[in-house]
Amino acid sequence: MRRSTHVMMPDHTPLTPPDYFDVHSHINDAAFDVDRIETINRTLQARVWTIVVGTDRRSSQLSSQLALFYEGLYAAAGIHPTDNTSEHFWKEYFIDLFASKKTVAVGECGLDYFRADGASLEEVARQKTLFESQLELAVEVGRPLMIHCRNAHDDMLDILASKKREYGDRLWGNIHFFTAGESIARRYLELDFTLSFSGVITFAREYDDAIRFAPQDMILSETDSPYAAPVPYRGKRNEPLFVKEVVKQLALVRGEDFEEVRRATVENAIRVFLALPHNASISTE
Ligand SMILES: [Zn+2]
Repeated sequence: MRRSTHVMMPDHTPLTPPDYFDVHSHINDAAFDVDRIETINRTLQARVWTIVVGTDRRSSQLSSQLALFYEGLYAAAGIHPTDNTSEHFWKEYFIDLFASKKTVAVGECGLDYFRADGASLEEVARQKTLFESQLELAVEVGRPLMIHCRNAHDDMLDILASKKREYGDRLWGNIHFFTAGESIARRYLELDFTLSFSGVITFAREYDDAIRFAPQDMILSETDSPYAAPVPYRGKRNEPLFVKEVVKQLALVRGEDFEEVRRATVENAIRVFLALPHNASISTE
């Protein structure tokens, strides 16, 4: 089932939608310590909005604070499966961050058996527990999940399918940095999870099938800044502005009009992340 594209802005004034939406950036990362404000100004002046994504408590707090200061910046708060393995899930800490309506997603969270040392049984169990507690939080606070999944799609799809049966429309979200084939894409789409594509699609061809297969209303654009800069910026520090290159490539691979794909990526991001339809306590209207 699709949610409506009703946008609830924090101050209740209608805003003109942006030209591009980078649904996953880390401008809270140390790579932007020297020029974070300039980067943000460049981004917003170019009419690009972005969700600044946390990977642990500290970066989630920073992303939530940035979102409060800037119109056009939103935050995701959560614990990455492998970035900071010393961190346990501290529910009350995150609930506090979700008091802000501009903290719009739980994540990035998920499963990563590639980075985890051989993914021992203990490590798999640790990651599943960490992910499932964040999934429960997402349902509780009425936010979508921002999912990181690497070399773990079967386990991820098992969890999502079983929780989807339990929670239905109260559970939704996006598979960030989607880098798999059409058959995996199909299974996520069947569960109503969107797929966001990053700069790697500008120089790797193996995801083209998935890009073409996904319906236009289920694709999103992202940078994962400061990582994975697209062509023609490869090797440089990535930033949200470069999301335009991702959108261009999506249109090219899909054989669709650029303007149509651009508009779709913005509308889809607004529908998935800004509509927040599920939790009355978050809406103060
Ligand atoms: Zn990320």
